[in-house]
Amino acid sequence: MSRIFSGIQPSGELHIGNYLGAVRNWVRLQHQQPTIICIVDYHAITVAYDPDQLRVRRREMALSLLAAGIDPDVATLFVQSAVQEHTELQWIFNTITPLGELERQAQFKEKSQRQESVNAGLLNYPVLQAADILLYRADLVPVGEDQVQHLELSRVVARRWNAAFARGAAYFPEPQAMLTPARRIMGLDGQAKMSKSMGNTIGLLESREEIWAKLRPAVTDPARVRRIDPGHPEVCNVYRLHEAFSDSETVKDVYQQCTTAGWGCIDCKNVLLGAMDREFVPIRRRAAELRANPARVDDALAAGAGACRLIAGETMRYVRERMGLD
Ligand code: ATP
Ligand code: MG
Repeated sequence: MSRIFSGIQPSGELHIGNYLGAVRNWVRLQHQQPTIICIVDYHAITVAYDPDQLRVRRREMALSLLAAGIDPDVATLFVQSAVQEHTELQWIFNTITPLGELERQAQFKEKSQRQESVNAGLLNYPVLQAADILLYRADLVPVGEDQVQHLELSRVVARRWNAAFARGAAYFPEPQAMLTPARRIMGLDGQAKMSKSMGNTIGLLESREEIWAKLRPAVTDPARVRRIDPGHPEVCNVYRLHEAFSDSETVKDVYQQCTTAGWGCIDCKNVLLGAMDREFVPIRRRAAELRANPARVDDALAAGAGACRLIAGETMRYVRERMGLD
């Protein structure tokens, strides 16, 4: 049976890009296969951050994931820094990772451009990611499209370690990415991927009013300058969101109304708001319940870390023995 592992950084609020690209898949898959979800705080400190804010964001991310439907009775949810073996295995993997592969990573190029000075942690980010996944010998990783290149690197690392230290046996599986149809949601400005760190997001726990204030001015097809200009749904971010949130009849209708200029973009966004609200009302309700019972979040994280330490310890015993480090 496959083991599923995935992670999310506590670098800001959980947004609809994270939800559609990854979290929705986690919620579905947790009932089918053993699923481990990690709040990756060691990844989040690769860019400038505030320690007090990190504490708050880590908790808030745990609460948001539970509200989104991660069920601690079936899935394992934990914080990366609570399991020390992640950084231990990362160091080991650093010693077998080709530098050129790290320098070629699109996320490194993009994030390092935004920094005044670039630290080695940002470069080694995908090595830690490989350690996260392989520590649990997971073989299926549900992520957004931006993480596919990092997973290629995880496969290289697994292959190299197996060849060098496992006498060619496939001790570490080569993990595969698993994508959703909404694998890359653009930001509301239409300029770049929706990202926690870019201020172009809709948060999963935002109110209907807050969502509308952001959705209303969101970029659509630039060809729709006037209300009577027909649009091209295939280039419109709002249409992508309809595909993710609206039922198939509505999606067909949206296509028709847009291409014939039957609706204006505001009409179209109003229908989308309704569909998003239907999905988010129960999520917001669960979030409110968890805020009233913070011990449920703490208990879920403590149980998750405990379960992960056992698996991680077992993996590291084997790794140390094979590498002459025991
Ligand atoms: P940051 O800006 O700090 O990198 P982020 O929004 O990119 O934050 P991550 O924590 O890096 O979020 O990624 C968590 C998961 O969400 C990953 O699986 C990633 O591929 C997915 N994801 C992130 N942004 C999007 C997006 N715009 N569309 C689809 N999936 C996304
Ligand atoms: Mg990211």
